[in-house]
Amino acid sequence: MNTSMPFLQQPRSLERCVTGRPTRDGAGVRLTRVLTSDLQQRLDPFLMLDQFGSDDPKDYGAGFPSHPHRGFETVTYMIAGRMRHKDSTGGEGLLQNGGVQWMTAGRGVIHSEMPEQEEGRMEGFQLWLNLPGKDKMCAASYKDIQSADIPEIRPVEGVLVRLIAGHVLNTSGAVDRPAQSHPTQVLYLDVHFERETFVDIPLPKGHNAFVYTYRGQARVGDSGAQVVDLHQMGILSNDGDGLRLHAEAGSRVLVIAGQPLNEPIAQYGPFVMNTTQELQQAVHDFQTGRLV
Ligand code: MN
Repeated sequence: MNTSMPFLQQPRSLERCVTGRPTRDGAGVRLTRVLTSDLQQRLDPFLMLDQFGSDDPKDYGAGFPSHPHRGFETVTYMIAGRMRHKDSTGGEGLLQNGGVQWMTAGRGVIHSEMPEQEEGRMEGFQLWLNLPGKDKMCAASYKDIQSADIPEIRPVEGVLVRLIAGHVLNTSGAVDRPAQSHPTQVLYLDVHFERETFVDIPLPKGHNAFVYTYRGQARVGDSGAQVVDLHQMGILSNDGDGLRLHAEAGSRVLVIAGQPLNEPIAQYGPFVMNTTQELQQAVHDFQTGRLV
């Protein structure tokens, strides 16, 4: 039995499940694209979610050599392994087990993301978070967050919640930015179940939200009957006052939510702007060495 009283009046229901598509990116890194471009409007402000996970260095060894970005943020969460980041601002960092790198590309960054291991498991996620038009040309920056600096809470016995970003259950995440300057108000949680139970997580009305099951199996909603299987993304309906997440021992689930920007999205590979003209400018700036 659950040791805490349920507090949601009307948990959000599951709109649908999406199975990621296997692909390769960078210099041939094998990964699963979970949030694909056809979902960018529905899951605004999120543009992409990739999962990478392999024990075979042939799948990840080539890494992501030098490449540009403009107009959005990348949030990389390492579950296992080590990845070194170097960028055109002179920034360099080592991303490892349980840590997060939060990179704001802004007007432009050229960086590399390379594995710093020749064997063993490499596993993690990269989320692309859109910036509002007014901030797309802001200065580039990045922040390395070590695993020990990610707040962890236990809202229910047997459930550990790691708060990567946002503010929920009276706790601030490692990144918690004011709504005035960062209207997307992103919430990014990693929920670990140590026994079978459920946990209630309030979500603001109107925020787009999804879960991703990367261990075990999860169920969402009031009835607990709507299953989000291993390696599936469950898109939550925009009704209700939050997420009721139910799972068995050993399950792990990402919970990601944000306020939509409701702006036009124009993407050309690693550039995400509002208009085609801005994309052409980004390509021109990159080709002429004026991106960064
Ligand atoms: Mn990149």
